[in-house]
Amino acid sequence: MDSQQEYVLRTVEERDIHFIRLWFTDVLGMLKSVAIAPAELESAFEEGIGFDGSAIEGLTRISEDDMIVRPDASTFEPLPWDDEGSARMFCDVLTPEGKPSMGDPRYILKRNLAKAREKGFTFYLHPEIEFYLFKQQQDYSQPPVPIDQGGYFDDVPLGAGMDFRKASITMLEQMGITVEYSHHESGPGQQEIDLRYADALSTADNIMTFRTIVKEIGQERGLLASFMPKPLADEPGSGMHTHMSLFYGDNNAFYEPGEEFNMSKTARQFAAGILDHAVEISAVTNQFVNSYKRLWGGSEAPSYVCWGHNNRSALLRIPQYKPGKGDSARMEYRALDPVANPYIAFSLLLAAGLDGIDRELELDEPTSDDVWDLTNAERRAMGIKPLPASLDSALSYLENSEFVAQNLGEDVFSYFVSNKRQEWADYSHQVTAYEMQHFLRRL
Ligand code: GLU
Ligand code: MG
Ligand code: MG
Repeated sequence: MDSQQEYVLRTVEERDIHFIRLWFTDVLGMLKSVAIAPAELESAFEEGIGFDGSAIEGLTRISEDDMIVRPDASTFEPLPWDDEGSARMFCDVLTPEGKPSMGDPRYILKRNLAKAREKGFTFYLHPEIEFYLFKQQQDYSQPPVPIDQGGYFDDVPLGAGMDFRKASITMLEQMGITVEYSHHESGPGQQEIDLRYADALSTADNIMTFRTIVKEIGQERGLLASFMPKPLADEPGSGMHTHMSLFYGDNNAFYEPGEEFNMSKTARQFAAGILDHAVEISAVTNQFVNSYKRLWGGSEAPSYVCWGHNNRSALLRIPQYKPGKGDSARMEYRALDPVANPYIAFSLLLAAGLDGIDRELELDEPTSDDVWDLTNAERRAMGIKPLPASLDSALSYLENSEFVAQNLGEDVFSYFVSNKRQEWADYSHQVTAYEMQHFLRRL
């Protein structure tokens, strides 16, 4: 046993923890959990805990349904919302032979990070997570009711939203996750909480914890907290803009004083790689039918593949790098939504950027116009492509993507495609309220 594992055993005893929840994530980004008693901890560290993986989305083929989870002691944290004495650890998922499972999103991210490390790079991220707070209701077929009528940065009097953010931040901090900013977002009842930058694996773990905490606090307060990308047709959707930076040793590899915008060649190539692959990775960064209603619903969600410095209609925003502020040089990917599987979405963003570096791609000029105000012909002339407009369209790009198959691995790739094809089929099979209203009597 290593010293971190010993620390866990000691803390469990000292803090009288009775349940240790072993967390892992399925291919769609849903958190899974199995609780063990303290007496099982030692063998969990050594051999892992067996479970039937065939019931977990995307984890196994039928032939290898006995899977193993082995906790990562460095992720041990007591759960502040549980008075009974619980803690959690994120786990690696292993095959019965003790090999990493190719269906484990956390392993996929680790593999992609290792590729970056071979080139000397580490990848840091800082997400801006948006979500809505609604009143709980008996019948969810009725439109949801936001908890307030506030707007961007509003300080809503007696605001349940502000209280909610305070409670979430306190809990996040208790679990070692630092929050940088939080505020009311533009939609009624819409909130935003921004996590401090961390390495990509910790950020993905933090996002899983974040979603759980926000859901827990919602339940506790009799509210519905929802990360659905576009819950209200006429209000802004919820995104998860993600700021990315790449370090080479101790230096921010995006920063190069003296170059145009103080932007290094590495930054330009990384950005070009991201833009080059944006369309084919959409089905992963925006994985639900509903995600495309946000992307094409205006309100500062990006719909076109382009970059800009301060252009909030651009997919990739690269703030101008200021002399002396090299450490904070970064780029913001604005398509992501808060229900993406962070492990595999971050894997693809990193791989896309690294591919831009490998292929020495050139970055086009920044776009300063509001790209929504241009005509299709103008956008075409400027070489600006649209993001897919539906899950169906996103999937047709994904299905043909060697790049995604290679960087996610064939198992997750083919599982993902077939699961999402089914989602699209189920969705398009419906006859919607819109059709009944517009067509039943008129046609
Ligand atoms: N809610 C907007 C989106 O869906 C983002 C608003 C902002 O923070 O700029 O991406
Ligand atoms: Mg925002
Ligand atoms: Mg932003």
